[in-house]
Amino acid sequence: MDANMRLREQGLDLINANFNLPGRHNILAKRKSIVSGYTKLWDVMIREWRAPRITDAVWLIYAASYLFNTRGLKWAVDPVSLGNLVPEAPAIDAGRDLNDLDFVLLTHDHADHTDIGLWNQIKDSRCHWVVPAHMAERFFDNMRLKRPRCSVVVPEQKIMLAGACITPFDAPHTPPGATNKINAFGYLVETANGSYLLPGDIRAYDPLCLERFKGVSAVFAHVFLGRAAARDFNPPLLAAFVKFYLNCHPKKIVLAHLYEFARQPEDCWLAEHADALARVFAAADHELAIVTPEWFKETLL
Ligand SMILES: [Zn+2]
Repeated sequence: MDANMRLREQGLDLINANFNLPGRHNILAKRKSIVSGYTKLWDVMIREWRAPRITDAVWLIYAASYLFNTRGLKWAVDPVSLGNLVPEAPAIDAGRDLNDLDFVLLTHDHADHTDIGLWNQIKDSRCHWVVPAHMAERFFDNMRLKRPRCSVVVPEQKIMLAGACITPFDAPHTPPGATNKINAFGYLVETANGSYLLPGDIRAYDPLCLERFKGVSAVFAHVFLGRAAARDFNPPLLAAFVKFYLNCHPKKIVLAHLYEFARQPEDCWLAEHADALARVFAAADHELAIVTPEWFKETLL
């Protein structure tokens, strides 16, 4: 069955996905260019991110690692340095560059989302850490932090930080059929200017999951269209992915979790996938804004 037929069958007769990906070569070329440009890209990004602003923006600092500046409020989700999983990357000085973070949200403890070296570089800053209960042991084993600058949270326990309202929720990261649950949190972050929904790494696309967040300013969608399916012409979860994110009726979709360099090519989602997904989303909802942030570059929200 080709991609169009599968989509038609699932009520999404929208596109010809037609993924024809060069695979490993493409991934290695991207890795080389990001590593060689990293120091400069990082420095320029930090200057932009630190500057006062009256709009909301996000910068991607790895596949699914975010810095936000929302009207001057500076926060991060799963901050990692490039060197965390790309050993040939030059070092950065997060202690110097990220010391004015207001808060950090952590989602789960997979290697591409946790950078204990970076955590420790910024542990003496004024930043407030939001740590899921399932990560608390690992967090405190590795960070000597004083309690007032840290909140251990459970799903649905709203907290207010620097004027932002943060709602953690249980995110379905466990693949269907798996016996061991993968604990992961998503977050809704409501600021003065907008509401940002970060469900995280989703593996079970139950369309009811995001329904209660209807009308968010932006949802962050981590591209995953099936296990070991990144080089398929017809990735099995294409339609499920699209329906899942459309169900929160977002004004904007931010596509991320591309070029996760630590993965095998068949598990590494690329810009071409994001482009095809953008066409599907655009066809399904003409009002919807769709953006695939370039790493280290400002993306307005
Ligand atoms: Zn994960």
